[in-house]
Amino acid sequence: MVRRIEHIGIAVKDLEAANELYESLLGVRPYKEEAVASEGVRTSFFRTGESKVELLEATKEDSAIAKFIEKRGEGIHHIAFEVEDIEGEIVRLQAAGFRILNEKPKRGADNKLVCFVHPRSANGVLVELCQEIRNT
Ligand code: ZN
Repeated sequence: MVRRIEHIGIAVKDLEAANELYESLLGVRPYKEEAVASEGVRTSFFRTGESKVELLEATKEDSAIAKFIEKRGEGIHHIAFEVEDIEGEIVRLQAAGFRILNEKPKRGADNKLVCFVHPRSANGVLVELCQEIRNT
């Protein structure tokens, strides 16, 4: 079951410039910057009430964000829904015929386990499911 929109991911060319722009736009500073080397991205996060905005900048030419910007330009890259049981959701969505990009949840930014649903399965929207990693 989905709990809320956790964040909206926006692909940007220049993270520093975008941080300044979104700081003016939202009236808050990013609370975190984090590189995810395995994905070839640098990210920053802004709190916007219950949800967040994630800015993503490519750090490698062959990263998904670099390819996205090359094809479509800057803009909304994905919508992330918070779930309580990401593995259960993957099983449920696969049974319902959705194409899951990574069947095993992987570690994403901001202390989350994440998996992605192919845009072709979701009306052209790249959907991220995320679950907070609990420190036990
Ligand atoms: Zn995300």
